[in-house]
Amino acid sequence: MTIDLPLARPDLTWAVTTNDNAKSAEERDAILADPGFGNHFTDHMVDVCWSARGGWHRPRVSPYGPIPLDPAAAVLHYAQEVFEGMKAYRHGDGSIWTFRPYENAARMQRSARRMALPELPSDYFIDSLKQLIAVDGAWVPSADGTSLYLRPFMFAKEAFLGVRPAQKVGYYVIASPAGAYFTGGVQPVNIWLSTDYARAGKGGTGAAKTGGNYASSLLPQAEAYEKGCQQVLFLDEGEYLEELGGMNIVLVRRDGTLVTPESDTILEGITRDSILQLASDRGHTVERRRVTITEWRDGVASSEIVGAFACGTAAVVVPIGRLLAEDFEIVHSGPAADELALSLRAELTGIQYGRVEDRHGWMQRLDA
Ligand SMILES: *Cc1c(COP(=O)(O)O)cnc(C)c1O
Repeated sequence: MTIDLPLARPDLTWAVTTNDNAKSAEERDAILADPGFGNHFTDHMVDVCWSARGGWHRPRVSPYGPIPLDPAAAVLHYAQEVFEGMKAYRHGDGSIWTFRPYENAARMQRSARRMALPELPSDYFIDSLKQLIAVDGAWVPSADGTSLYLRPFMFAKEAFLGVRPAQKVGYYVIASPAGAYFTGGVQPVNIWLSTDYARAGKGGTGAAKTGGNYASSLLPQAEAYEKGCQQVLFLDEGEYLEELGGMNIVLVRRDGTLVTPESDTILEGITRDSILQLASDRGHTVERRRVTITEWRDGVASSEIVGAFACGTAAVVVPIGRLLAEDFEIVHSGPAADELALSLRAELTGIQYGRVEDRHGWMQRLDA
């Protein structure tokens, strides 16, 4: 069945082809009862083409499935790719919402610019999410802490081995139901300090949400696991705190001041920005500046720094219990910083699930 729905721009319409092999309500409910993270996908996907000649065209919602790709497609050789990560939340009245999607749209445009990909207009971006929710809304779970993870992405699909920006690109959105990240309470994580490997360098792609940054983080991440840590912290110039490779970091001072690294080699998280806004609303001072690993070490030794937390869409906010390095470790023991992190986490998730007033106008409805 193919039906046409209007897109934000009147000259483009969405062609919607529903999936004849969609999961039954029973199969879907069984998955939603214990989705894990990134294991299961909904029945449909969004697919929009771009070419240097024709711009954005052929917006489609189709059955979820493999993407036909020429073996010479540029992304497979030169990694010309960007992505986003966000969540759809079901509110108590059944309605479906997402959090600050215009920020994700703008960040995808910045990432695309850096990777020489075309910039998808924000209204297309938001529309693509709404189109997917229109057919797959039943996949948004309703249990506490669960959500439908939305993964917009774009890559170079032109078949050409010469090195230049591709003239054919595809934009897609897939969705994957996500369980509550932490069952039985949020546990502090241990972090490994990577000194042999860097995530990004000045003028590089650290500020873009692009797959290559993740590819280069996998080896240090494996090293972290070997050391008994769940995450890895990267430094800039062997000295300045950057981020965890998928989550941003915030230090907590004794007086409640929050300190977070500022650098053009960091991916600017929307979770971090929101948490810092909520903290600032509560009267906390927020410092965005360069922070050295020595400042953190000395600060903990003198009790000037009482804790740290990591934040990102997937895990929201997680206290950092311990930082392990080759020749030293930093241990946070007092509860104050963890309590602050968890209380900010509760306020943020309260807004996302519609239980706390959205005074900044962050929520956008997707199913209307
Ligand atoms: C996505 C991402 C984050 C977190 O960003 P949010 O918008 O908070 O989800 C942090 N670091 C990297 C490298 C990322 O890709």
